[in-house]
Amino acid sequence: MVDFPGPTSLQMITFTMEKAPMRLRFLVSVVLVAGCATNPVTGRSQLSLVSEGQEIAMGRQQLAASQQDPGFVANDALQRYVSGIGMAMAKASERPKLPWEFHVIDDPAVNAFAAPGGFIFVTRGLVGYLNSEAQLAAVMGHEIGHVAAKHSVAMISQQELAQGGLGLFSVLKPDLAQGVAGQAANIVASLYFLKFSRDDERMADELGHRYSVHAGYDPREMPKTYRTLQQLDKSSSSSRLPGFLATHPDPGDRMAYTQAWADTVKNAARLKVGRDPFLAMTDGLLFGADPQQGYFENGQFVHPVLKFHFAVPSGWQGANGSTQVVLSEPNGGAQVSLKQSAQGTAQAAAQAFLTQQGVQGQGTQQTSVNGLPATTGEFNATSQSGQQLHGEVLFVQNGGQVYELMGLSLATTWGQYGGQIRQTLRSFGPTAPGQQFRPRKWIRLVTLQRSTTMNELAGQGSGVVTAADLAILNSVDVNATLAAGTRVKTVVTR
Ligand SMILES: [Zn+2]
Repeated sequence: MVDFPGPTSLQMITFTMEKAPMRLRFLVSVVLVAGCATNPVTGRSQLSLVSEGQEIAMGRQQLAASQQDPGFVANDALQRYVSGIGMAMAKASERPKLPWEFHVIDDPAVNAFAAPGGFIFVTRGLVGYLNSEAQLAAVMGHEIGHVAAKHSVAMISQQELAQGGLGLFSVLKPDLAQGVAGQAANIVASLYFLKFSRDDERMADELGHRYSVHAGYDPREMPKTYRTLQQLDKSSSSSRLPGFLATHPDPGDRMAYTQAWADTVKNAARLKVGRDPFLAMTDGLLFGADPQQGYFENGQFVHPVLKFHFAVPSGWQGANGSTQVVLSEPNGGAQVSLKQSAQGTAQAAAQAFLTQQGVQGQGTQQTSVNGLPATTGEFNATSQSGQQLHGEVLFVQNGGQVYELMGLSLATTWGQYGGQIRQTLRSFGPTAPGQQFRPRKWIRLVTLQRSTTMNELAGQGSGVVTAADLAILNSVDVNATLAAGTRVKTVVTR
């Protein structure tokens, strides 16, 4: 659903409109008291501006944001399974009393992250690429380690100090204020790009290793996880799989040291791998981005369910969030966003938009775009940093829903971008009857009836994914021949 934008793709003009960003105001307000606290893992005293109560409050904000965007995977059995594994390890951590929660979020990127206070998220993409319960335990153990050792809390403290106590996480500041709903994507995206130090990462790995062994998992599965990440990094698929690798050190390095730790564990072979129960959980999991949430293709954004499309100006970047689609001019000079309006008609929506606080409307005009009734208008506004902005908004009705398309640039550069923005707004139209859309892909677990190569397996799937993709997905060599009776993950479109 969400193609999380790179850290720069949403860098845009700040724009004051609608509500002030409540979520961020809350985050800032919780950081008030400075003091030293003992780190539960290292036992050392550490400067902390965040109390445990504040830490948990921040985590809960994150939880709410993640639940909204990208949302949790609607699979209770999977959620319970992941939570059960995580809780067993968290209870054995240095901070067992935190209100730990574990969720699989509906994101195709291969990633996992921890919010302060004990809220751990693994992506649907990551679950799909892992191959055992012990691998999942290793990843979650790593994230539990970040929380137990208060790594994000320490970062908040350091950033606070660096900024003289002004603001929290400059990267969390909204680039475009769209009210509370719009903030969620920014906050979650920022967590995705939160980088811990190499030392913190190594410590989280060490803690993850320790928790896994304590919970009875074979630690030799941990290096295999990093092997999968390394293979993903090298494969052509990696460009659409940002995440863990963008924020974590070289998986090759980590493969080596986690293997060395595993080698010191006596009787590791007697510990649990849990391949079969884990694989069973991946059966039927959506694979890759969900086209039914809309996608970019051939210079268009297409939404197969809401049945509309609109053009993306050549060279612009697009980000598809759960509440809006944002297109950004490559240099950040202009932006077009699309979202659903709560109003019943285009006219009412335009009226509400152009009369809101901070917006100086310049009148509306009834029109039609590609056969759909629409209302359009231009406006001036002032950015949070005091810059004069100019924009055009178009409300259009399609299939009983009103959509808001808004284009913005600095007032001084409207001459440069206005034409392109107007063209983009007016490209909105209904999809053609009978139009073919990109199919959804699912992971399907199969038991091989005879010994099978990766190429044969890929052939059976009619080219939905390549042999190389299937090899990474199953953590085997691309030239491997798998024996009859082996359970393997394949990818299907129905
Ligand atoms: Zn980490």
